[in-house]
Amino acid sequence: MPSEVSRILILGGTREARELAGYLEEDARYHVITSLAGRTAAPNEVTGEIRSGGFGGVEGLMEFTRKKRIALIVDATHPFAVQISANAADAGARTGIPCLRLERAPWAERKGDNWTHMTDIKAAARAIPQGARALVTVGRQEVAPFFARRDIRVLARMIEPPEFDVPDNAEVLLARPPFSLKRERALLEAKRIEVLVSKNSGGDATYTKIEAARALGLPVIMIARPDRASPAAASCVGEILSLIGRSLD
Ligand code: NAP
Repeated sequence: MPSEVSRILILGGTREARELAGYLEEDARYHVITSLAGRTAAPNEVTGEIRSGGFGGVEGLMEFTRKKRIALIVDATHPFAVQISANAADAGARTGIPCLRLERAPWAERKGDNWTHMTDIKAAARAIPQGARALVTVGRQEVAPFFARRDIRVLARMIEPPEFDVPDNAEVLLARPPFSLKRERALLEAKRIEVLVSKNSGGDATYTKIEAARALGLPVIMIARPDRASPAAASCVGEILSLIGRSLD
């Protein structure tokens, strides 16, 4: 590898991270390592070098950047993945390696939407009306408070099964985005869903459930993103590419 090649660590697990790795890998000036948390047994394919599993906190991440001679970190993790972002920012500040955060914009409520805004998962679980049939799309790691509500019917959609027993009043649907609007609408109708629970993840891949709920006049319990210490540097891949170019010039 020529010495002028800059080594970039992408903290991934999102569609944007995959797209970014694809673009950067085509550019001879960069070598990319994408890091995945290792939670998904069969993750989507990523271009370039991949490593998987936690680093062992900030110290471990700093050690990794030193060993791999990383010139720049791009934190392109999910808007709800707060710990790894905090670790990345901390590692960047302590090593002097620039750390840029790429975070897609949140969804905004539109005409015809009926959202109840929640700031955390437990409050969202409590907000489901007694006896209601809910489609819960918060991921397997955070589904427990919904399963604990024995007075509602839960259809929980996730990529991989939960690590604990599914109660009788709940059903797990394993599926990986993107989902078409037609399919989302058909699911809501077939399962006679009365309320949708979603994180405000943003992006296109899962927005169709919001559109389907709007079309059917269904309420949405929308969980707001966690607060972050500072705003993201970029909200799309094009924007972060130009920032990377400027940072490494
Ligand atoms: P988190 O709570 O912010 O992070 C917990 C720990 O997991 C981190 O301290 C780190 O362990 C490890 N970790 C997380 N992301 C990593 C990465 N990309 N590479 C290496 N280690 C990572 O994270 P999370 O919310 O569980 O999310 C885990 C992964 O799933 C992220 O890559 C995220 O982009 C993706 N994801 C999350 C959500 C969500 O709703 N939270 C949704 C879709 C995708 P160490 O401290 O040992 O380094």
